[in-house]
Amino acid sequence: MTTHKLNWYPCFSKFDEPFSTICPPTPLPDPYWVATNNSLCNALGISPDIFSQDAFLSAMAGNTLLAQSKPRASVYSGHQFGVWAGQLGDGRAISLGEINSPLGIQDIQLKGAGPTPFSRRGDGRAVLRSSIREFLCSEAMFGLGIPTTRALCVVGSPAKVYREEAETAAVVARVSPSFIRFGHFEHFASMGQLDAVNVLVHHVVQAHMPALLETKGDEQHLACALLKETTQRTAALMAQWQAVGFCHGVMNTDNMSILGLTLDYGPFQFLDNFYANHICNHSDNQGRYAYAKQPQIAYWNLFCLAQALMPIIQDQQLALDALETYKSLYPNYFYARMREKLGISDELETDNLLIQDLLTLMDKDRVDYTLFWRRLSNAVGEISSNEGNVFDAVQDLFIHREDFNQWLERYKRRLVPSDTSVVSLNMLRVNPKYILRNHLGEMAIRRAKEGDYSMVHSLLAVLATPFNEHPDFEAWAGIAPDWASQIEISCSS
Ligand code: AMP
Ligand code: MG
Repeated sequence: MTTHKLNWYPCFSKFDEPFSTICPPTPLPDPYWVATNNSLCNALGISPDIFSQDAFLSAMAGNTLLAQSKPRASVYSGHQFGVWAGQLGDGRAISLGEINSPLGIQDIQLKGAGPTPFSRRGDGRAVLRSSIREFLCSEAMFGLGIPTTRALCVVGSPAKVYREEAETAAVVARVSPSFIRFGHFEHFASMGQLDAVNVLVHHVVQAHMPALLETKGDEQHLACALLKETTQRTAALMAQWQAVGFCHGVMNTDNMSILGLTLDYGPFQFLDNFYANHICNHSDNQGRYAYAKQPQIAYWNLFCLAQALMPIIQDQQLALDALETYKSLYPNYFYARMREKLGISDELETDNLLIQDLLTLMDKDRVDYTLFWRRLSNAVGEISSNEGNVFDAVQDLFIHREDFNQWLERYKRRLVPSDTSVVSLNMLRVNPKYILRNHLGEMAIRRAKEGDYSMVHSLLAVLATPFNEHPDFEAWAGIAPDWASQIEISCSS
């Protein structure tokens, strides 16, 4: 059976050579479904029945091509851990092509589909463990309302893949309007191919930011408008990451999306206990990508993008002005997010200090970040009940209770005279009950390695609506077990 009712949109011709090379996936033996995402499938206008077709399983394993698919791997470069790394490229991701969907044009990409001309010394594969992490985290981020690439399915195979030990292979099908990275621009700029940089600018603007086409002036101004737009989107993204306690782990410029999406899930982690200097990537010895550093690293990365665009923008002051917007946008977005989390709907000069003092207290006592916000949201809803100390459960999270109580008095004064039951409901809509805690991902992976994928499926369902109650999964909203802090997540994937 070869019925693939996918409405392929012709690949954007300008993303052919020199941006990408035709590269068919390498087949994998005995593929099987690990997880499928019905809700994304529906959103793409495709019936989830497609997951029951053997031909589609084969296509998502990279064993056969969908009709009209032109599989391509693209070339990019980048700065890794602050150092120019030269050419990288899609070493194990192969774009099958773009489909025209109700979500707009979407690129479908198989990650782990075999070697490409850009694999360097890599095997082009991904292991089951990292594929499950990417699948679940993309969808968890989407559920949280954070811009991200999506994940349609994970296919596993008994084929061996060698990392620190022998593991098995998997392919995750990623979906995004575009996988273009800062590194794509850096690549062609570093080669002195300014025409290509210009084509990239036009492609991104036309396909993804058409409003910028109104920009008055020439190419110089269009490139600058793109820089400004990406700066704004990146600032908004960083504020969302920080507010939810997400650490990316490898914020190299080749992992930064020109569209401001969360991209390339590797050694990421949601904070359990709040610790500003937390480093989630065991390969990050210097802590370059520690949680608290993410916003400034994003700015550093934007600076690299600006440098790549400089030969087109030409006027240094124009580029600096575009970058400069980050310095006010990021804190504005961040404090707006944090006020939302606190249920504060207006803005006072003293709010930033209230927020900073809270984070300092949480950092000192390593308070569980997600639990704190959820308990605070619920407690606020109880204020008018006058039943004992409604903040007991929040206070219990702190070792230095007196310090926290002093902060709490300031906070309560700040809330007066709000309708606290409404405030509480608003808070519950922005403070998730469920995040992809490291140990939950780890438990799902351990079971999956034994052939039981049920926890992957349940996590997908719960994390799709993380602000809702899921009584059957109450345990997943609790404090991480002691062993969670021992989980080591490195770049190995
Ligand atoms: P990452 O650290 O995952 O962002 O990867 C950095 C670069 O290494 C990218 O160009 C990847 O495509 C490439 N890469 C990572 N793992 C592999 C692999 N197993 N085979 C080939 N290329 C890889
Ligand atoms: Mg990457």
